[in-house]
Amino acid sequence: MAYKITSQCISCDLCLSACPTGAFKIVDGVRWIDPNLCTNCVGGVYTVAQCKAGCPTCDGCVKDNGDYWESWFVNYNKQIAKLTKKEDYWDRWFHTYSQKYSEQLQKHKVNY
Ligand code: SF4
Ligand code: SF4
Repeated sequence: MAYKITSQCISCDLCLSACPTGAFKIVDGVRWIDPNLCTNCVGGVYTVAQCKAGCPTCDGCVKDNGDYWESWFVNYNKQIAKLTKKEDYWDRWFHTYSQKYSEQLQKHKVNY
């Protein structure tokens, strides 16, 4: 899968000159990466994607996983890796969610 421009892009255009294959395009002010030209920077002299490596926002250009759940789990694992208390994450998540949901239900009952 090719790289793609995300909503984090601040239009600095640093990746325009950094891309070795000319895959970064600007058409009518819209920035995008041509998936037919993007090689993921594999097979050349680079060890990392040049667009991502030089992007000041870090997430302006990211690998497009294509598959929704694959992408979801990549993000999930990234977030989980930052947590210090991983073991009871889902217990706390469920506790908070059910508490908030109960509060909403109570409000709903009071209004009717
Ligand atoms: S380097 Fe990042 S912020 Fe700059 S134009 Fe490219 S994707 Fe957008
Ligand atoms: S991954 Fe490499 S080839 Fe693909 S757009 Fe980024 S810099 Fe260009």
